[in-house]
Amino acid sequence: MGDGFAWTIPLIQSGFGVLFLLARRAGAAPEARCWGVAYLLTAAAFAVPALEPVLPIEIVAVSADTLFALAFYHYASALLVRFGGPVVSWLRLVLLVISIAAPAIGVLWIGTLQAELIASDVTCSLQLALALVLIPLWPKSGINRAIVALSWFNIVDNLIRTASIPFTTGGTSFDTFLGSEYGYLMQATAMVTGFAFAILALASIMSDVVAAHRRDALIDPLTGLLNRRGLEVTAGPGQAGRPDSVISVDLDHFKRVNDTYGHEVGDRVLVAFADLIHRTLPRGCAGARVGGEEFVVWLPGRTMSQAEMIAVRLRASMAAHDWTEEGIDERQTASFGLGLRLGEGADETLAAAIRRADIRLYEAKRTGRDRIRGQVAA
Ligand code: GH3
Ligand code: MG
Ligand code: MG
Repeated sequence: MGDGFAWTIPLIQSGFGVLFLLARRAGAAPEARCWGVAYLLTAAAFAVPALEPVLPIEIVAVSADTLFALAFYHYASALLVRFGGPVVSWLRLVLLVISIAAPAIGVLWIGTLQAELIASDVTCSLQLALALVLIPLWPKSGINRAIVALSWFNIVDNLIRTASIPFTTGGTSFDTFLGSEYGYLMQATAMVTGFAFAILALASIMSDVVAAHRRDALIDPLTGLLNRRGLEVTAGPGQAGRPDSVISVDLDHFKRVNDTYGHEVGDRVLVAFADLIHRTLPRGCAGARVGGEEFVVWLPGRTMSQAEMIAVRLRASMAAHDWTEEGIDERQTASFGLGLRLGEGADETLAAAIRRADIRLYEAKRTGRDRIRGQVAA
């Protein structure tokens, strides 16, 4: 094995390390930092043997082992952060200290390469194993499962290599270690698993970022309800043979709330009303904020009379709500218009049903507000 190969590992690993830290700075999930630090530490551990000409071999060996122990601590942290395990714990810290001390004892006291390697491999594996028993064994998403599976594989791989020590380190000492079969195995697996881990971890971080952006694009940040686009995506194109109902809602005299109590109180009223919608809605239905104080409720598979019952309940819950918590000492009302999305054959968009519901909503406004108006006659 040439030096070129040996240098490839720290170069690639530090590249990944920097990539993870940059991802974290750009807003990726917190475990990106742990991955970044772990990869930089691994890169440093693989680079340390370059100091052999200028440092005593024992110092080089202990430094590399210490860096590996710290790297595994951070790999384990990344798993715990990602899957919600206890990152800071006495057990983990004690295991870290043992992971640093045991290989050092192997080098400085026992003085054999085999003792050092066994101590390092076993304690690093234990650090990873401790994290793995603290997180779900079989997470839901494919990427998460792959990360957990690869972590277990990494432990098995480490231990198999440890078992191979009597056969793969024959006649090798600290300074010729990297040229031994064991050294080759270690670098080859570090290359392969390190690469696979990095790709998986980056993929998991990227998919989280994409999912968060998708969510943000479909959700109204003030109320947490869907926005208009989110409602269209959720409602989809409609199902043949299943009529959907919609309720258009507009808060009455809402401008007056802002003018009298201030915009912040107005916002609180919007949030409280969104909460009422949320609590009134049957399962499988969705509420959206489609404008300033305008909302739409989507009721898949519900008839007009079922929609009317839900609108009645929503109006009643508004009347029963104590608005003093929002900072208002008068009753708040809203106007409601109902619309039907036609099923089979009609192939209607949700927007068409909302338009019909809006016509009825404005009728409710015109005729005095605080009332419900049904579907426009066919
Ligand atoms: P109507 O009963 O006819 O619906 O009267 P209205 O006052 O509710 O309707 P109008 O359309 O005249 O006013 C809507 C107000 O909603 C005006 C605007 O200041 C307010 N508004 C829109 N978006 C927000 C928001 O995000 N927060 C707050 N606090 N107010 C908002
Ligand atoms: Mg309005
Ligand atoms: Mg209004």
